[in-house]
Amino acid sequence: MNNHVISALLSPQQVDYALQCIHSAQSIAIITHQNPDGDAMGSSLAMRHFLLSLGKENVTNIVPTSFPDFLAWMPGADQIIQAEQQYDQAAQALRSADLVICTDLAEPTRVASLSPVLTERFQSNYESNANSARLLIIDHHLSKVCTEHPEQIAFPDCASASELVFRLAYQADELPLTEDFATCIYTGMMTDTGNFSYNSCHPEMYSIIAMLLTTGINKDAIYDRVFNAYSADRVRLIGYCLYHKMKLFPEYHTALITLNRREIYRFNAKSGDMEGIVNMPLQIKDIYYSVFMREDKIPPHQLAEADGATIKAKISLRSQGNRPVNILAREVFRGGGHSNASGGEFFGSVKQAAEKFEAVMPEYFLTM
Ligand code: 5GP
Ligand code: MN
Repeated sequence: MNNHVISALLSPQQVDYALQCIHSAQSIAIITHQNPDGDAMGSSLAMRHFLLSLGKENVTNIVPTSFPDFLAWMPGADQIIQAEQQYDQAAQALRSADLVICTDLAEPTRVASLSPVLTERFQSNYESNANSARLLIIDHHLSKVCTEHPEQIAFPDCASASELVFRLAYQADELPLTEDFATCIYTGMMTDTGNFSYNSCHPEMYSIIAMLLTTGINKDAIYDRVFNAYSADRVRLIGYCLYHKMKLFPEYHTALITLNRREIYRFNAKSGDMEGIVNMPLQIKDIYYSVFMREDKIPPHQLAEADGATIKAKISLRSQGNRPVNILAREVFRGGGHSNASGGEFFGSVKQAAEKFEAVMPEYFLTM
């Protein structure tokens, strides 16, 4: 097991700071981003198993919105507080915990209705002196948040937040080589790399996986549970999107798919059902950009900024190679993300969002 070489990506200060925060906290809340995906679930639940292995007893996992059915089997998922269903309990845990750990999340606004509570928590952390261990961020998004603080374990080049949780435990020499921990880490690494088909060339990734496999996890079974678990509605919805709704812009190597409220209702689609559709047009030769838009309600906490709009479009953007989509996401759709995988939103219908996108596409997307 020790033959594998895993370099010290985290600085000694980051590891020490994280351990000091953890050891001095009685109660710890772990939170991840809204619409949690495999890496959000994997990193936050792996952190739970890590903390339990360190003897922490009061650990609360929170998700801002529901997680998809195909992740409900994950070890520890049955302990999660879902803020849409148990808002008061989630908010109370966030407010009262000695330490809040954000995984796959660095912006306090990406937690839906909990945004005001987490924003408060961020502010009080930065206002107080650095020794008051209160906030720990483990993330791999490019973020507006300052990275000079020791509580930020933020590495945009790392393919998954789950890998960073592994590295923290490994560098702390406290690696819990249990099946539960390994399953959560592996799931996050697998889902954020499209089952190791992008952002997946770093050799150390496979050294980590080799260590995870020594716990006895079955990686093929994990794949099966995540990727072969679609509802019939979802498979039909995918067919509809690709056959009826995909618009191609060959000159810009771009595909665009939109789904309005009526279509989402017709296919009985939950938010998890629409996950990953954005990646599919990239299978087409010479298509390098893909954009997927779907209509969603405006949640109460956004009504003020929605400026009278009654509906919003949630936008996902993907690209291949050196073709960043996060600049468009940030400048046009109030979002952000990674160079090849970003998202944002637009207050209005998907039709209006698509018009806006088509108008700016020549400015942001390459013709070569
Ligand atoms: P998805 O398309 O899967 O919802 O999001 C892909 C990536 O885009 C996320 O991992 C995240 O980095 C980024 N992203 C999605 N939505 C938003 C958003 O509203 N704001 C920001 N800043 N980033 C987003
Ligand atoms: Mn992630």
